[in-house]
Amino acid sequence: MKLTRHNKKLSFYEKERITEMKYKMIQESNYCCSVCGNKFNGANMPQIAHCINKGKQTYKKYGYEIINHRFNLRITCDKCNSSVMIDPESEEGKLLRESIEQDIINKA
Ligand SMILES: [Zn+2]
Repeated sequence: MKLTRHNKKLSFYEKERITEMKYKMIQESNYCCSVCGNKFNGANMPQIAHCINKGKQTYKKYGYEIINHRFNLRITCDKCNSSVMIDPESEEGKLLRESIEQDIINKA
């Protein structure tokens, strides 16, 4: 089973899928930040944080499928957003990438 690791821009449907996933994750987090546990409200809006950060370089290197995979995402408040970030080439980053790849393969 091949992993496409496509680097093209996300389609409208893929963006919709990510938005849907985000709201599902917010519900599952009980409307609280997954790092500090603070409740979300109008003054503390949930954000989708990427463990392997999204950017031109990481998209190019690892692909949109990895970066936007659920395992790479956390629901956080603004304050905690950057605290979930890990080095994709660290041991932790490698394990995360492997578990995402495995998940993609399992669902293909
Ligand atoms: Zn927080």
